[in-house]
Amino acid sequence: MNKNRFKKILFPLLFLLIFESVAVTLWLTKDNIFYLFNFSYIGVSLSLGIFLLMSNYKHARRIVQLLVGLYMLVYLGIIRRENMQIEGFWYYLFIGSFEAAVIHYAVAKIFGPLIFGRGWCGYACWTAMVLDFLPYKTPSGPRKKIGWIRYISFALSLIFVSGLFLAAGDKTGSIMFPAFIAGNIIYYILGIALAFIFKDNRAFCKYICPVTVFLKPMSRFSLIRIKCDKEKCVSCGKCKKVCPMGVGVTDNSRKRINATECILCMECVRNCPKDAL
Ligand code: SF4
Ligand code: SF4
Ligand code: SF4
Repeated sequence: MNKNRFKKILFPLLFLLIFESVAVTLWLTKDNIFYLFNFSYIGVSLSLGIFLLMSNYKHARRIVQLLVGLYMLVYLGIIRRENMQIEGFWYYLFIGSFEAAVIHYAVAKIFGPLIFGRGWCGYACWTAMVLDFLPYKTPSGPRKKIGWIRYISFALSLIFVSGLFLAAGDKTGSIMFPAFIAGNIIYYILGIALAFIFKDNRAFCKYICPVTVFLKPMSRFSLIRIKCDKEKCVSCGKCKKVCPMGVGVTDNSRKRINATECILCMECVRNCPKDAL
């Protein structure tokens, strides 16, 4: 087996192994077979995506985004009525339950980014799953200096759930499902409107999304990241042109421009004419 073929199989398998370890550990420690099914499904979807990506299949990322995003939105969110948004995370955290949204946040958005950066944003988020269908795949103008809004939406989500506990007490749990539906509708309306206003599909991610308050600092230390081979690079700038997040791709330092914005979409890698990334 040649080296490339070996890598093509090894990476997806490694990823599957990580997710299966989480699946089995949670299944046995929580005595709940749902965790085995849940993390196995996500692991298989992501591994398939990595395999397709490494096979240079153009729509690999979109396939994973739909497989994971729809599963989380429709099955976990609507059918099982789990609030996987940040409000659900606060809710379960406040009642001291290490279940559902808390586990989801711990794996995908708080500790996971130390390994796979903002892979969640590129391959699994159900908000971006819809936004990525819009026409502005790469931003046409410079980035706006309004990223501070994310801290306001982060604080608002916390205030909202705290207020619910004060106002509704024990009934707060029953409000979490309507809150999930309303929250998603607001995210989609805002996300789509901002995409058209700023001519940038990912404007919501860049300026508003409260989850980035967790994702950005953790992904700074990510094990998996895009690196540039300076020997091969001819400084053509194509990678920066196609990047949806405005990352200074050719700079290898962790402090590069918009370093914590990379969603590992691989557009830069696919478009580099010298295979330097
Ligand atoms: S920044 Fe927020 S909305 Fe955008 S992909 Fe990440 S989690 Fe989803
Ligand atoms: S696309 Fe490739 S060759 Fe061009 S600047 Fe980027 S890394 Fe260098
Ligand atoms: S184009 Fe490259 S640098 Fe930009 S977000 Fe995608 S993977 Fe990251």
